[in-house]
Amino acid sequence: MQHSPPETTTRHHDVVVIGGGAAGIAVTASLLRRRGDLDIAIIEPAEQHSYQPGWTLVGGGVFSADITRRPMRDVMPDKATWYASLAEMIDPERATVTLADGSCLGYQRLVVAPGLVVDWGAIDGLEATLGENGVTSNYRVDLAPYTWKLVQSLKQGKALFTQPPMPIKCAGAPQKAPAFIAGSRLGNDAGWLDIDAETLQHVRHPAIFGLGDASGTSNAKTAAAVRKQAPVVAENLLSSLEDQPLKAAYLGYGSCPLAVEKGRVVLAEFGYGGVLQPTFPSWLNDGTQPTRRAWWLKARQLPWLYWNGMLKGREWLAAPVCRDGA
Ligand SMILES: Cc1cc2nc3c(=O)[nH]c(=O)nc-3n(C[C@H](O)[C@H](O)[C@H](O)COP(=O)(O)OP(=O)(O)OC[C@H]3O[C@@H](n4cnc5c(N)ncnc54)[C@H](O)[C@@H]3O)c2cc1C
Repeated sequence: MQHSPPETTTRHHDVVVIGGGAAGIAVTASLLRRRGDLDIAIIEPAEQHSYQPGWTLVGGGVFSADITRRPMRDVMPDKATWYASLAEMIDPERATVTLADGSCLGYQRLVVAPGLVVDWGAIDGLEATLGENGVTSNYRVDLAPYTWKLVQSLKQGKALFTQPPMPIKCAGAPQKAPAFIAGSRLGNDAGWLDIDAETLQHVRHPAIFGLGDASGTSNAKTAAAVRKQAPVVAENLLSSLEDQPLKAAYLGYGSCPLAVEKGRVVLAEFGYGGVLQPTFPSWLNDGTQPTRRAWWLKARQLPWLYWNGMLKGREWLAAPVCRDGA
């Protein structure tokens, strides 16, 4: 991984990826597995990369917050160039991205994966009291340990939980799609990245693809969805670079592990329209009942799969399916 200094002239890359979260790293790794000679740049301002699905287990006293985070430089694929800045504006006509530090990047193909913004301000007074007065959220890793502290100290009385309507990631706090997507006129009416539900290509700008939480597709916003989306974007982006038809299809897979108690989880897996898409045979995971096996998957296997599989471009159980007629 090369760390790039800011510069004022436009620097060109084959592929520019916005966001170095679950989606940005996974798709870069998948692209490089297919074509190691691609010149890929990742724009990502954060110094730490988080395994967000672990935060509920931090709040539940199972994980320490530290094991859900790694230095960003450790998860950046070696062959990618990292720009440690924010993407501020995309110009689809000129095929450029302007960064907060003033640099300008040109691309042949762009992947938009900046996740979503948790809109704490949507609840009056919330920001002022979060982290004290018994108010907490597992949607911030620095607050998740406070959740566990509150759980332990609650001997009697009532605990009040809130849950806003969809679309939210893995069900839990009010959120909103990043402003620069709407500002760059890449959003749908609701402000989410306007991509085709199956190919994950932008509906108006064929040089642009998207995946992850910022996408305007109707799947559950989960890392599990990203695991299936990354190979689809990698396949289709490479086809488009070669002027070939897009063959890979994303069928809306998502998965929500619902921890009903310490040691038991309902691992529901479904696609667009709620169609069940089980990864495992029903004797291994029923998908409707809480089981200890699903807990073991959530707490032990999935974090390992994330760091060592998904972020490295190893597409175990995530091979893309072919579009009808492709
Ligand atoms: C508490 C909690 C529990 C969850 N539980 C589960 C679960 O059990 N199972 C599951 O599958 N999923 C779960 N999820 C959801 C999962 O973590 C997300 O769906 C996944 O991280 C989405 O990946 P992403 O790359 O789209 O977004 P993120 O992982 O959020 O990454 C986005 C990245 O983009 C960067 N970025 C933002 N704006 C810009 C910009 N303008 N320019 C450049 N970079 C930018 C950010 O710094 C960030 O690094 C959970 C999430 C939370 C918060």
